[in-house]
Amino acid sequence: MDNTKIPKPTIKRLAVYHRCLENMVISGVASVSSNDLAERLGIKASQVRKDLSYFGEFGKRGVGYSTKHLLDSISEILGIRKKWKTCIVGMGNLGMALANYPGLENSGFIAKALFDNNPNKIGIPMPNDLVIESTEVLEEIVKKRQIEIGVITVPANAAQIIADLLANAGVTGIVNFAPIRLTLPPGISNEEIDISVSFRSLAFNMTFGSSRKGRRA
Ligand code: NAD
Repeated sequence: MDNTKIPKPTIKRLAVYHRCLENMVISGVASVSSNDLAERLGIKASQVRKDLSYFGEFGKRGVGYSTKHLLDSISEILGIRKKWKTCIVGMGNLGMALANYPGLENSGFIAKALFDNNPNKIGIPMPNDLVIESTEVLEEIVKKRQIEIGVITVPANAAQIIADLLANAGVTGIVNFAPIRLTLPPGISNEEIDISVSFRSLAFNMTFGSSRKGRRA
């Protein structure tokens, strides 16, 4: 299967299905239908079926899917059965929060290095036997520890410099939290994350959402 042909919104929903299925497996739910999944997530069952249809048959119509099997299949599609080695650059509010968030490691994204350029932060002990290291040694460490994904949590004016450093060091994926569009060489996958977009989208729906507007009047 050519994963590059799968639309981005579908990939994003698969990640949401994945999280929901993980919780179901933990709670001992053995089978799940597209209707169950849709209901839990507040989306249309037809959408769930369409998303899953990109990957062939997962289950029998009307019977549902084995929760574990569906979780494994989606994990494979999303590439999260594999453990990915990551580093975080910029150990301020956001970098610290991500480094202390066990959910990333549980999803297969293992932090192998944490960097900052503030001398007062270098050497601070962090979870998983890591310490904050200087960006001066970023290239060397990323190569040595074979880090594949760089997470950028520096201010916007430093983000491109860090992206260039990460690219030179050989990462093949970047998650960028800084509010700036990066220029990257070909072959590097880039995910830009902007929490304010979700807030704006919520505000839009609250302002113009047709389903609730009528009820308030
Ligand atoms: P912060 O100021 O608390 O932390 C930034 C850290 O980056 C500091 O530790 C600083 O020493 C370090 N830094 C600065 N320049 C550096 C460089 N050249 N090399 C290495 N480290 C460097 O900021 P924050 O609140 O953690 O936010 C970090 C970034 O994330 C900002 O760009 C902010 O706009 C963005 N942000 C994004 C979202 C989102 O939804 N995408 C949410 C919050 C913050």
